[in-house]
Amino acid sequence: MLLQDTITAIATPFGTAGVGIIRLSGTQALEIGRLIFQPAHKNCPWESHHLYHGDIISAGGKTILDEALVSFMKSPHSFTGEDVLEINCHGNPLIMKAILEELIELGCRLARPGEFSQRAFFNNRIDLSQAEALASMIAAKSTKACAIGLAQLKGALTKEIDNIRTLLIEALAIIEATIDFTDDVTTSDIPQSPQIDLATLRLQSLLATYSSAKIYTEGLSVVITGKPNVGKSSLLNALTGRKKAIVTDIPGTTRDLITDMITIQGIPVNLIDTAGIREPKDAIEKEGIALVWENLANADVVIILLDGSKPITFEDREVIQKNKNDILIAINKTDLPHTWETGTIAGLLTQDAKIIHISAKFGTGLEELKNMLVDSCLSENRTDTGGAMITNMRHKMALEKSLENVAAAKNSMVTGLSPEFAAFDLREALDNLDEITGRKINDEILEKIFASFCIGK
Ligand code: GDP
Repeated sequence: MLLQDTITAIATPFGTAGVGIIRLSGTQALEIGRLIFQPAHKNCPWESHHLYHGDIISAGGKTILDEALVSFMKSPHSFTGEDVLEINCHGNPLIMKAILEELIELGCRLARPGEFSQRAFFNNRIDLSQAEALASMIAAKSTKACAIGLAQLKGALTKEIDNIRTLLIEALAIIEATIDFTDDVTTSDIPQSPQIDLATLRLQSLLATYSSAKIYTEGLSVVITGKPNVGKSSLLNALTGRKKAIVTDIPGTTRDLITDMITIQGIPVNLIDTAGIREPKDAIEKEGIALVWENLANADVVIILLDGSKPITFEDREVIQKNKNDILIAINKTDLPHTWETGTIAGLLTQDAKIIHISAKFGTGLEELKNMLVDSCLSENRTDTGGAMITNMRHKMALEKSLENVAAAKNSMVTGLSPEFAAFDLREALDNLDEITGRKINDEILEKIFASFCIGK
């Protein structure tokens, strides 16, 4: 990749806004800035991290393209580590396009997606996991996901990876010293160091954060199912506070999937109301019910809704039995007299099945239901990793490989193999950790990662 040329891009979203930002980074940023910017005060010292007011002009100063504020960040104290210029102009796409064309005319190259971050990485301003955190923070759909991204950007993951690295390097040093200075040794002659066990624990703890972090970043998919008329549409409407699904006492009204988003404890939750499960009365209902089974298989949590005011039927039992996911039984219509005891369905449920009594019509028990939805998915992983969490599949796979390498090293030490085997596995474990931070990474993978970023970042 070229690091010498000066790149430019619009850093704000496409569309009309009060302000739009155009960014330049590279050795010629200031030189080009001087050509395009006519400061309001003749004496413009271009001090780093100062904001200057003036006009953006076309070549030769014939036309004024906009009135703007321009800031200059001198290398290495900028996001990319290079000279950076930022033009705060008016957020009209036509104005921004004209300025961008002028900058290209003056020698800038249009930046590729993620190229500013890529330069920051190459200039050691951030490591690869921080660059990725930045991209996921920008795309985050919940406040908690933003906070996780920010913690990684501030180096929480980098620090934890460094801690594990240090342990592995110490363990490797002990093994390598034995290889260098002693003939005919086996790993059973090497004093057992706690580093490998500690590294294993830390790797496991970090990996355990993935499922919770994924929920914070990607959200939960929750399907509401049950036979017709138990109150599925009423529950969707009550949880969202909107009238999205039709509520009637005519069975079989919902045929398509009806979805709506809510946020619970900072987690985006996609709620899906489905057709009631029963023997279909026509082809449309048959299609609708087929869709339900498809969606149930992909759901994170399934709410099985039962009507507490009417006896349990064959359809209720079928819905419970056919569900293999995490289920939450919600017994609806508690405002009406109950006709059956919870024990009636006990034989169909696993020991840890969660049951709650609600009234979708009157809003009873809904807050508790919301919290149960989220808690059932978050409860497993709450380990201390110093704020570091894994949200990225690439990081997860590299950590898993590293953990396998450490386990293999431990195994060859326990079984008394030649120390070269353990040393080889520990080096592999380190290489896999280095893929996360980008200390050692294949160029093609690197290109792919940055290409998935947005333009101007
Ligand atoms: P769905 O077919 O499962 O989507 O059920 P609906 O939401 O359309 O509701 C069916 C009927 O049950 C409607 O007449 C609702 O007003 C009624 N209903 C839903 N929830 C409750 C509840 O908590 N209490 C009472 N009394 N009626 C309810």
